[in-house]
Amino acid sequence: METVKIKINGIETEAPKGSTILAAAKSIGVHIPTLCHLKMEDTGYVNNFASCRICVVEVNGQENLYPACETKVSQGMDIVTNSTELIQVRKSILELLLSNHPKDCLTCSKSGECELQELADQFRVKNIRFEGEQSTYRVDNSPAIIRDIDKCIMCRRCETMCNKIQTCYVLSAVNRGFESVVAPTHEQDLEDTTCTFCGQCVAVCPVGALHERDYTWEVVEALSDKSKKVIVQVAPAVRVALGEEFGFEPGTDVTGKMVTALRRIGFDYVFDTNFAADLTIMEEGTELKKRIEGYLAGDENVKLPILTSCCPAWVKFIEHNYPDMLDVPSSAKSPQQMFSAVAKEIWTKEMGWERENITVVSIMPCLAKKYEASREEFSKDGNPDTDISISTRELANLIKQSGISFDMLEDGTFDNPFGVSSGAADIFGRTGGVIEAAARTAYEWITGNELENVDFKQLRGLEGVRIAEVPELQIAGSPLRIGITHGLGAARELLDKIRSGEEVVHALEIMACKGGCIGGGGQPYHHGNFEIIKKRFEGIQAIDNSKEMRKSHENPYVKELYEKYLGEPMSHRAHELLHTKYFARKKS
Ligand code: SF4
Ligand code: SF4
Ligand code: SF4
Repeated sequence: METVKIKINGIETEAPKGSTILAAAKSIGVHIPTLCHLKMEDTGYVNNFASCRICVVEVNGQENLYPACETKVSQGMDIVTNSTELIQVRKSILELLLSNHPKDCLTCSKSGECELQELADQFRVKNIRFEGEQSTYRVDNSPAIIRDIDKCIMCRRCETMCNKIQTCYVLSAVNRGFESVVAPTHEQDLEDTTCTFCGQCVAVCPVGALHERDYTWEVVEALSDKSKKVIVQVAPAVRVALGEEFGFEPGTDVTGKMVTALRRIGFDYVFDTNFAADLTIMEEGTELKKRIEGYLAGDENVKLPILTSCCPAWVKFIEHNYPDMLDVPSSAKSPQQMFSAVAKEIWTKEMGWERENITVVSIMPCLAKKYEASREEFSKDGNPDTDISISTRELANLIKQSGISFDMLEDGTFDNPFGVSSGAADIFGRTGGVIEAAARTAYEWITGNELENVDFKQLRGLEGVRIAEVPELQIAGSPLRIGITHGLGAARELLDKIRSGEEVVHALEIMACKGGCIGGGGQPYHHGNFEIIKKRFEGIQAIDNSKEMRKSHENPYVKELYEKYLGEPMSHRAHELLHTKYFARKKS
């Protein structure tokens, strides 16, 4: 690697030719503040509009200041990052930003996580010398995401995320000068666009301009209504990230403490979405087996690949962008919706109640699950299967406002019958996990042999698009070929190839978020640090490795559910409760 010799704050160093001043400074432990810039290693995400100018530095005593995020190092550069003048410039930039920013810190949902607030504090901005017109833009309230554009600092991180990484093309800068905002085409509301509600724009927004629709208060109200039982289900990815809100390392498994916290908050029953993940595999695994059998028998009505359908953002993406491929996804509902349907239609009756007597709350790493819960097909006579969906972050707030010292909690265990799950269910939380869980079950069902080594390591990894083969499962003399993608841009890349015939796979897993649900839009903010997502990945895998039961079809409570109520996977009753339909939606 070719390097150049440079000096940063008097420290002589060498940096790779072509690297930025920001990267060179970081490599020797010199921190330069940034605001619009964000680079997430391993994901391809780089926002480099250099619009905020907070990272400006002095170079070789020249009069002009240079943005460190986009200026490349060159031989002999003498860089200063922390002079008195620079501190003054940064303070002035912050004052200008704050001059047209609502001073809502006490009530803002990003308070404590806001990068603008943190910088204003670091630079001790106590007075704002500039006064001027204030933006007044309407607040856009969707079921999942709120756009409060008066707080927007035009960093355009959301735009890069939505267009370059997710390829959803929902957000872009519109209008000019003081009127500029980042908004959907024709300044429509998100709900009227092709937005998938993946929440990745929320995950990268440095301020409170984009945030989740918070349903914490609705949960508090439901818990205080003594005429109803309130039950809660928790998704797999939540348990390896929730601890971050309470000082635990990313990836720490806090399942036991989380269950105890939920009981103390007042939920009548604390259940595990993992149970429904095992149930999902029973349905998706059967569908995979049937489609493979039909394909081998030459049935022209059978389509391969089969596509997992657990991610509601991904489902909305295919409805908008690939309406000609709606027969590809499995018709199995997501674990959130399977759980709620079974809870309201079977469990309540077993308990002697009606579905109106219970409130189902889901805790998800995801913002798209809020939207999914609101889809009309997931309700009966106006009563939704999932009443309230809250994110990992909202759960953390609920725990904090309940005065619970999370780190001091003893470990609790989930209630049954929906409290037992296999390791295969845990890995639903990471990219490649759903298809690995399906492969574990499909192998035994298709070959009739016991699967000794359940670790399909070729299905794991963090590359955006992965193609892997499972030689243990042969389709007409060739190994089962699986495509795995995470991030919607990667999904588009693979789907285009499948549509044109350039790539052929038998099964496909797509997750909208980078890393899968562990990187979901409702997880604790990672502030662009992909190492956090890697640690959550390892945390999820460790839970799977530690379980004795690692195949979904071995779950005794899932077997009992079929014996008592559903008959077989894909039976008429299973179809009624556990399967859904997809709808072609407008392209733009
Ligand atoms: S939620 Fe996803 S699709 Fe919607 S605007 Fe944000 S990044 Fe784009
Ligand atoms: S909404 Fe947030 S991420 Fe998007 S431009 Fe505004 S401040 Fe940046
Ligand atoms: S990958 Fe997971 S967290 Fe992200 S949108 Fe899909 S279901 Fe939600």
